[in-house]
Amino acid sequence: MRVFSGILYWFMGKKVAILGSTGSIGRNALQVIDALRPDYEVVALSAHNNADLLAAQVRRFNPRYAAITDDAKYAQFKDALSGFDGQLLSGAEALVELASLDEADIVVCAVVGAAGLPAALAAAQAGKTLAIANKEPLVIAGELLMEAARQSGAVLLPIDSEHSAVFQAMQAGRPEEVARIILTASGGPFRKTPTEQMNNATIQQALAHPTWTMGPKITIDSGTMMNKALEVIEAVRLFGMPAEKIDVLIHPESVVHSMVEFIDGSVIAQLGTPDMKVPIQYALTWPKRMKGIAKGLRLHQLGQLNFEPPDLERFKALAMGFEVARMSGSAPVVFNAANEAAVAAFLDGRIRFGQIIELIDRCLQAHAVQAHLTLGELLSIDAWARRHVADALVRQTAAG
Ligand code: MG
Repeated sequence: MRVFSGILYWFMGKKVAILGSTGSIGRNALQVIDALRPDYEVVALSAHNNADLLAAQVRRFNPRYAAITDDAKYAQFKDALSGFDGQLLSGAEALVELASLDEADIVVCAVVGAAGLPAALAAAQAGKTLAIANKEPLVIAGELLMEAARQSGAVLLPIDSEHSAVFQAMQAGRPEEVARIILTASGGPFRKTPTEQMNNATIQQALAHPTWTMGPKITIDSGTMMNKALEVIEAVRLFGMPAEKIDVLIHPESVVHSMVEFIDGSVIAQLGTPDMKVPIQYALTWPKRMKGIAKGLRLHQLGQLNFEPPDLERFKALAMGFEVARMSGSAPVVFNAANEAAVAAFLDGRIRFGQIIELIDRCLQAHAVQAHLTLGELLSIDAWARRHVADALVRQTAAG
């Protein structure tokens, strides 16, 4: 019976739970899975508050479970899905439930910000293949996550394009043969913008990314290069490399997604069109490759690829990211949480672009770094950093 159900299970394809299915990564993941059916199917979907889109996705992919984490949207969500015979859930704790479902083989974690952290940890503890799109789980709780995966046998696969590229390049050698990881960065919308002009950039200017189409928070992070700073920390955690062995290289075309230099001097790069469907699909099909829907790369159409070192004076977040990666412990938690709070304030029109990094810096200065923390302790430091930024904003408004 067990053998029979095993065979049946194999024929039914891999079952994927997507946490954060209405965001940019989630929507791309659904397109990838749509094209990989019947080898892959959706078992669970979740979204924070986009009830209409989530309901439409549930109708189309017919998962067994769907969750909306914003309780206030549950009634609307339920109404939109009258007659649906799967299970509907609501609230933040529903994410943890979906992440550890017996029926799920692969959990795609694409929840914006720190909200996806307990679910990512639950998936790692449950021994799932965990495809991580958001940086926060690794940045905030990287040690706990990697340890949980070691104990349960869970496999952690990066969806972030740079880390997917590094992971793909890593297949060309053994971990101990790696000399350096070279993360590429587009440089964002302000690559050539003078400091003063960048510091006073409008929301519209900051949201106009030259090569990638992404959600607003990550696009702002690309403008400050905070995104790359978080990726340095992410790479330290994911690949067990010291910050000293990680370089950042500006590459405006976003075609070389990252590289690994091995001890013999060989550099292996992964290239492709800037399309998140490629790293998403690789995380789903690894260690195999399958025919995909992303367009192939025609280098002759580009003619040339450019590279330059990053300007650590202008992009202070990046310099700070290397420093925070070296400090480790609770430093990345504060760095990330202060940034989330500051970016939200910028998108609300409450602060200038240049103040994002000032607020993060002041928050880090006010924090004494601690090591070997529990998830609860990490989350309370995360909350402290957000409060610290909020208080600074209140003082500014009062003074202003
Ligand atoms: Mg990235």
